[in-house]
Amino acid sequence: MFDKFISYVRDIYSSKDAIPLHEPTFIGNEFKYVNDTIKSTYVSSIGEYVQTFENLIEKYTSATKAVATVNGTTALQVALKISGIKTGDLVITQPLTFIATCNALHYLGASPIFVDISDKSLSLCPKALEKYLDQNALVSNSKCIHKKTKKQIKAILPMHTYGHPAQMEELVAIAGKWKLIIIEDAAESLGSFYKGKHTGTLGDIGILSFNGNKIITSGGGGMILCNKDEDGVKAKHLTTTAKVPHEYEFFHDEHGFNYRLPNINAALGCAQMENIEKFLGRKRSLAAKYESFFKNSEIRFVKEPDYGQSNYWLNCIIVPDKKFRDEFLKKTNYEKIITRPAWTLMHHLPMYKNCLKGSLKVSEKIGSTLINIPSTPVI
Ligand SMILES: *Cc1c(COP(=O)(O)O)cnc(C)c1O
Repeated sequence: MFDKFISYVRDIYSSKDAIPLHEPTFIGNEFKYVNDTIKSTYVSSIGEYVQTFENLIEKYTSATKAVATVNGTTALQVALKISGIKTGDLVITQPLTFIATCNALHYLGASPIFVDISDKSLSLCPKALEKYLDQNALVSNSKCIHKKTKKQIKAILPMHTYGHPAQMEELVAIAGKWKLIIIEDAAESLGSFYKGKHTGTLGDIGILSFNGNKIITSGGGGMILCNKDEDGVKAKHLTTTAKVPHEYEFFHDEHGFNYRLPNINAALGCAQMENIEKFLGRKRSLAAKYESFFKNSEIRFVKEPDYGQSNYWLNCIIVPDKKFRDEFLKKTNYEKIITRPAWTLMHHLPMYKNCLKGSLKVSEKIGSTLINIPSTPVI
């Protein structure tokens, strides 16, 4: 199995060299647009590519307002802040996620509650969520209160894992019933849709990331997807030092952040967006190849759910047990076919190990048997 997989991947990429997990692809106007910013001297926080990039993302995702930021983590921090997340608040999220999801909460003094993922979507499980709330929370004066700590559970923060859309309709219904806001961490899921709607636009607010390993990159970068115009205005203000617009005076009316996306990064992002359909198509055909390779084997290739479309950002397989996983990782990486285990589950990290949590059986199982396999689109 291991040797067959290794030669299969080498065939796909027609390469004898190291095959990365995911690397950016520059086949369009990247050089031209980045050069423009250098020639014009507008490489920093002012320049027209930022607005253009925001417009492209708005159009593509149908978000009411998209606000660019310096990375996805800061986008999430600001999206949470705008949603009213404050010191002492609790927010329900999944333990299978990248560290940024929890860190963004921490920066605001809030804490995560970990609830299990669904085996199907690998994202926050509606059934587990409902069960956790039934057992641990009550609604009083339109607020969801965690019974034991008396703290308010303000929101749920589902993450569309590896690009596969979460079960949003069910999550939205539960959030409504329990008076919870929904902030979507769609950092990995540009190009993923839930019943035709772009991920990150189904809850109250969402975010994207354009880090170098994501489906498109701006070097570093992020975007806040706002469903309400007023959130867009707030997000722009907060991320641009809360400066009140004036011809020459500097007046800031609150504690803002300098989270602006530089123009040079936005230029790269614009060029990448022009090829998004191409990237998605090639990712889809790569996923189809893996799917057929693992068919009728003891390994499950994770397919997009029937209710949505995945961008197949990072292809995932789930192997029978941890021992199998460890051997797979060792052999493939030794042969320079880069593969990676799932992130260490958040509640196993020192900073988050004492957080509240429900039963995390599915997360534990997936966390120790999932492997990401090479996912750069083949051009
Ligand atoms: C990439 C990522 C982010 C944001 O990361 P940045 O590197 O700050 O752009 C947030 N959440 C998840 C789940 C991610 O994968």
